[in-house]
Amino acid sequence: MILSSRKPLANQFDVLVIGGGHNGLTCACYLAKSGLKVAIFERRPIIGGAAVTEEFHPGFRNSTASYTVSLLNPKVITDLRLAEHGLQILERPMQNFLPLPGGDALRAGPEMSRTLAEAARFSPRDAERLPGYFEMLGRAVALLRSMLLQTPPTNLRRFPDLWTALSFGRAFRALPLRTQREIHELFTRSAGELLDSWFEGEALKALYGFDAVVGNYASPYTPGSGYVLLHHAFGEVNGKSGIWGHPRGGMGAITAAMAAEARCLGVHIELEAPVRRVLTQGRRVDGRSASRPIRPKVTGIELEDGRVFTAPQVAANVGPRLLFLQMLEPEVLPQDFLEHLQRWRVGSASFRMNVALSELPHFNGQPAHGEHLSSGIIIAPSLRYMDRAHADARLTGMSREPIIELMIPSTIDSTLAPPGAHVASLFCQHFDYQLPDGRSWDHARDAVADLIIDTVTQYAPNFRASILGRSILTPLDLERVFGLSGGDIFHGALGLDQLWAARPALGFGDYRTPVRGLYLCGSGAHPGGGVTGAPGHNAAREILRHRR
Ligand SMILES: Cc1cc2nc3c(=O)[nH]c(=O)nc-3n(C[C@H](O)[C@H](O)[C@H](O)COP(=O)(O)OP(=O)(O)OC[C@H]3O[C@@H](n4cnc5c(N)ncnc54)[C@H](O)[C@@H]3O)c2cc1C
Repeated sequence: MILSSRKPLANQFDVLVIGGGHNGLTCACYLAKSGLKVAIFERRPIIGGAAVTEEFHPGFRNSTASYTVSLLNPKVITDLRLAEHGLQILERPMQNFLPLPGGDALRAGPEMSRTLAEAARFSPRDAERLPGYFEMLGRAVALLRSMLLQTPPTNLRRFPDLWTALSFGRAFRALPLRTQREIHELFTRSAGELLDSWFEGEALKALYGFDAVVGNYASPYTPGSGYVLLHHAFGEVNGKSGIWGHPRGGMGAITAAMAAEARCLGVHIELEAPVRRVLTQGRRVDGRSASRPIRPKVTGIELEDGRVFTAPQVAANVGPRLLFLQMLEPEVLPQDFLEHLQRWRVGSASFRMNVALSELPHFNGQPAHGEHLSSGIIIAPSLRYMDRAHADARLTGMSREPIIELMIPSTIDSTLAPPGAHVASLFCQHFDYQLPDGRSWDHARDAVADLIIDTVTQYAPNFRASILGRSILTPLDLERVFGLSGGDIFHGALGLDQLWAARPALGFGDYRTPVRGLYLCGSGAHPGGGVTGAPGHNAAREILRHRR
């Protein structure tokens, strides 16, 4: 299926993009803007990768995978004219709602004053400390934001890389020592320890600790989970820092706007066009000097249907495992690089469901209607609950009491469900991709969906009875449907071993790969997962730089 306005006249392009996720689209747009002839080949019948909206029950549409926006880079929004192409990001009237077993609940945002008043109900001391916590987080976010659109340094013998490393070091050293310590702790320690040192209220700690386990198969007490918390805090909506919103029409509205811009720029987009392999020329000779091996170069791609397209540069939007372990001949990669990628950590232990609802859930002890139903509803009342969910999953493959975020976007977006009815997203952790004892997700799917529905029903008794239809994505489905290796929502864990210059491997954190002309432009490259557009933006800059 061809989506662009014109069929390709030839099978030759300047750059071929493998995969039409939001990063592939972003990369293609920047390249086409610079006058290059670009083509995108997407395996699915719909553009957008993990940022798509689909009908899952007659008359009910919802974001299929990713379901809420904050991290999308403002520069990408402007450069790709997403608002002009119809993208409208709606703000939640309340940021989060955390129901508690006894019928009480903690509410947060959007205004700080409301969060403070709520926190004070549980602990006046926590309310006093909350502004200081946000200031601390804000200092770390400022540093992280300054790195998002920068290419990580890979080879300190090259002047630009050395300069980047020195600039980063200087910026860090210019911070007060106290801030340096805070940032160091955030990057290396567990979110649980950090939150325990700030607050005493279980609900407040759970509210913020939730961000540390989203897409992260870890306990909030796992070292490094502090970074995942930070990763979910660097975004903004309509210029308002740190909040999350909803694109009208679902997450597919983002990629539909990107595809519209791509079409305007003449990008050729082909759907239902799975790429079988990346074509290369030349043999790898490592030689005596590791810094000067003879590297094979990319020549194009071959689709599953046998068609071949050629280009001197190829950008891969697929994850590192898929690209390096399945689309390339092993001989073209250095042995140590190949071994590194075989150890690349994937598996975010995420389970995703959409449900069509005849009525809104009525939470115990809460009004039947209200702003809380338009927020991110977090079912995970304490850090200990999340720790147990993780421990359970490591032992049995699944959490007996899962961590759930429930969002009902139809409360602020009438385009998704018939009048009076609603759609809800359920994003759930922790569910291991690899079930023990040879059990298959194809057999466990419905039982886990029921467990999740029952868990929500404990807090909102009418929930189960209100479900008209459901669509389920197990970790295995995430791999099958979206090509996410191990069902990893970020193309690879956001651990310190897999971030910045080490994403996907030290020496190749600058979007290049060991194959000349082949680049990584998706979430498996810096700055990692989430609907950001940043890897696509940065990869395009590197591709253009190497053409000069
Ligand atoms: C269930 C889930 C929930 C999430 N929730 C959120 C959220 O709420 N907010 C947020 O910011 N982020 C969220 N994320 C993370 C975010 O969606 C991803 O990190 C991001 O969308 C990845 O974008 P990408 O363009 O790098 O890759 P992808 O979106 O993965 O795109 C890669 C593309 O490559 C295609 N492809 C695969 N194999 C081939 C092949 N052989 N040939 C051609 N094409 C191929 C795929 O079909 C896909 O379209 C979530 C992800 C998931 C899965």
